[in-house]
Amino acid sequence: MKAAFLDRDGTIIRDYPDALWASVSYPEFLPGAIDALKLLRRKGYHIIVVTNQYLIGEGLLSFEQYSAFSRRFEQALRLQGLAVPDIFYCPHARGAGCACCKPAPGLIHQALQMYPQIALSASIVVGDSTGDEGLAAAFSLDFYGIGFTPSRGRPVASLWEAAQLAP
Ligand SMILES: [Mg+2]
Ligand SMILES: [Zn+2]
Repeated sequence: MKAAFLDRDGTIIRDYPDALWASVSYPEFLPGAIDALKLLRRKGYHIIVVTNQYLIGEGLLSFEQYSAFSRRFEQALRLQGLAVPDIFYCPHARGAGCACCKPAPGLIHQALQMYPQIALSASIVVGDSTGDEGLAAAFSLDFYGIGFTPSRGRPVASLWEAAQLAP
C-alpha cells in the first residue's frame, strides 16, 4: 500500500497567522484540493494527514477547538464523497522536544504502527514548509513543496499539481 502523507494547513486548506486560528470555525479548502485528494485516491494512494498543531500546546487553541474544527474538516470531505482520511497530529508546543513535531519523524512512525503495510518506497509527502520537507527526508520519501523550492524534491504550486505529478 502506498501512502500520500499530506500536510493540512497551507496544503489542503487555507492557513492563517497563529493568532487568528482560534477564531476560524470552518475549513476553507484551497483551489483544486478536493480534486487532488480524489486524484490521489484514484492513483491508489492511502491518504494520511500529518499536521503540526502546536497552537494547542502553546495555549492558543484549545483541544476542544481543534477537535471541533477537525470534525468540520472531516465532514466537508465526506460531503465531497471522500473517505475521511487518517489524521495524525502533534499537539505539543514547539521546542518541547516531542518526537512528533515535524520535521521530527513521529507522525509517520504513528502511521506505520497503524499501517505496517505502507510501502515507503512508493509513498510521497506534500507540504508547504521545510518541516514537511524534513519529515520526507527522514524517510527518504518523494517530496512536493507547495510554494517553495525544496532542496530535495519538486516545487509545485498546489496540492493539485502535486497530485498530477505523483506517479
Ligand atoms: Mg502547512
Ligand atoms: Zn509532538
